[in-house]
Amino acid sequence: MKATNVRIADHFTLFEVMPRTYCQQFDNDTLLAWISPTILKAADRFRDIVGKPVTVNNWNEGGTLNLCGLRPPNTSIGAPKSAHKVLFDSKRRLTQMGQALDLHVAGLSGEAMRQVIRENWPQFRGLITRVEDKTDGWLHIDCKRTDDPSQLVVFGFFKG
Ligand SMILES: [Zn+2]
Repeated sequence: MKATNVRIADHFTLFEVMPRTYCQQFDNDTLLAWISPTILKAADRFRDIVGKPVTVNNWNEGGTLNLCGLRPPNTSIGAPKSAHKVLFDSKRRLTQMGQALDLHVAGLSGEAMRQVIRENWPQFRGLITRVEDKTDGWLHIDCKRTDDPSQLVVFGFFKG
């Protein structure tokens, strides 16, 4: 493992938002430059408001969740330009940071988690721009640029 599992937010560590292969390939500074600080703040805010443990990836604890935070450009699941993906141009310059997380809370449905965002929108404004509609056991949040960041965008399942 090239990276170490350092704390990168109040409630989250590096391995929780990175796929295992990236933690084996890249060092901490490289990985940290690829994940949006804004979406980490959003996850912390969500954790504080919901008041329960929030899981992104859990591969490091022996679980199966591995692509719920940043995704490599060639990841086949999800949309081609998904906000989860870190993207580069032909000269290997960063063109998109990982700016989406899929959050899981034991005992809370996707709809219950979306409701947390809606009911507390003033506290999420500026940190979250979009959530995905109709996800069942998780909540997708991202901070992808939108026309009006003051309004929450709820977008269709499997498009982002
Ligand atoms: Zn997602």
